[in-house]
Amino acid sequence: DVDHIYEALLYTDINLDSLEPDSILDEDHIKLIVKKSGMKYKSAKLKEEKERENTDAVKRPPADPAVLTPRPPVVTILGHVDHGKTTLLDSLRKTQVASMEAGGITQHIGAFLVHLPSGEKITFLDTPGHAAFSAMRARGTHVTDIVILVIAAEDGVMQQTIESIQHAKNAGVPLILAINKCDKPEADPERVKKELLAHDVVCEEFGGDVQAVNISALKGENLMVLAEATVALAEMLELKADSTGLVEGTVIESRKDKGKGPVTTAIVQRGTLRKGCVLVAGKTWAKVRFMFDENGKAVDAASPGIPVEIMGWKVFRCGALEGNVSVSSCQQRAHEVVAWRTYVEQQERMKRDVEIIEAKQKEHRMEYKEKQEKLAHLTWRQRKAVLYKANKHLMFSRPKERTEVDKNVLSVIVKGDVDGSVEAILNILDSYDADGECKLDVIHFGMGDISETDINLAEAFNGVVFGFSVKANESIKRLAAKKGVKIKLHNIIYKLIEDLKDELSSRLPPSV
Ligand code: GDP
Repeated sequence: DVDHIYEALLYTDINLDSLEPDSILDEDHIKLIVKKSGMKYKSAKLKEEKERENTDAVKRPPADPAVLTPRPPVVTILGHVDHGKTTLLDSLRKTQVASMEAGGITQHIGAFLVHLPSGEKITFLDTPGHAAFSAMRARGTHVTDIVILVIAAEDGVMQQTIESIQHAKNAGVPLILAINKCDKPEADPERVKKELLAHDVVCEEFGGDVQAVNISALKGENLMVLAEATVALAEMLELKADSTGLVEGTVIESRKDKGKGPVTTAIVQRGTLRKGCVLVAGKTWAKVRFMFDENGKAVDAASPGIPVEIMGWKVFRCGALEGNVSVSSCQQRAHEVVAWRTYVEQQERMKRDVEIIEAKQKEHRMEYKEKQEKLAHLTWRQRKAVLYKANKHLMFSRPKERTEVDKNVLSVIVKGDVDGSVEAILNILDSYDADGECKLDVIHFGMGDISETDINLAEAFNGVVFGFSVKANESIKRLAAKKGVKIKLHNIIYKLIEDLKDELSSRLPPSV
């Protein structure tokens, strides 16, 4: 059922544009999508829901060539450091200043449009360099149509020039050469073109199909020739999109603006984005309140290839907002999609945790066995002395001297049955300590059942006592209740960790 597959796609964060145009989804593809979306598990519910909101259902019209219209190419500038990428972007932007309305201020939003006198448009991504290019591709976004490779005419082909060629080739994105700094007396564009032959980049004058334009980014010379070469290549690539159907796009940048709040810059890839649309991106959603172009001018609609800054995101945490943007049929669906994606991520994280713990436990068992073998020849008394020394640091840790209770710190006491389990827990906690807004402070840890000392410590630090495979007897429980100290006992490490994480997030300041 095609409709169901399109529904499923929304849940998976797979962008259809990452598939070849008009490619047929084979069974393996569909199986993967369905698996990732949890559709089997949800399909009955969705069907029911779809019947309810029938008219609102997400449907992707088949790619009808009649509805496809040309769109501006999206260009990334690559090249060796200091060859003039930033200068070129600045100069290209400046070519637009004259045509800009008075009072407009050019802002960095991650991309900008260049309007040619012929009426053509080009979208430039304004973070140069292949780090950004690769990062986007690693996220599965295939937004760049053309790479402009900047090479300084006096330096020629350098290390990062070669890397850039490789990146473009791997991505299957065609190149245009911008041979820069031609204003310099020592500039030798012909030499550059010859050097490129060794890297399988063959310019037109050598019978190849790569256009080369001699420019001076600094003086703004020949930039329009470069832009026209880009448009010519775009025409050959027949870049077209359906601006009428379902909206899909790619997040280029996201940030928190002092005045506007959380904003993202996205490039629409199909459909037309309008004010009021409900969007899903990564693990958050938006109802588009406002859209702006790179001159800070409010726009009502954005068609394919056009970058816009979007205002109206609901939750904004670092990393939550990236990848593809899709329009959802309704707010409730957006909630559900975000919840599902978050759930899937948690599951994956939990699976990783369990793997880490199991590996640690295995390691400890091995160590223990080795230790036992080493101790085998000792007497019982000697053995006890050695073990005591080895475990001393675990049994007698010092609580830090601190009286003030910080609200954004969760103090915990960790008790376990054996040192292996305590250490495994501590190792995992170490990895969580850094990324949360609420800090975790392990004020005491050790082996054995929960004791009066543990409760007293927890009380002093407003902390929580976590026990793994240990007990707390009735009098200790009574004492804890009296002092308002929480005791949490678990027999499965990942459950303990989950519980602890819940405790951490319950202490987070409310999110925006
Ligand atoms: P990037 O590292 O590739 O972004 O290079 P930049 O744009 O920062 O340029 C590096 C240096 O080269 C700067 O000092 C620029 O002023 C200079 N530069 C860039 N383009 C030209 C040019 O066309 N002619 C000359 N003479 N200098 C240039």
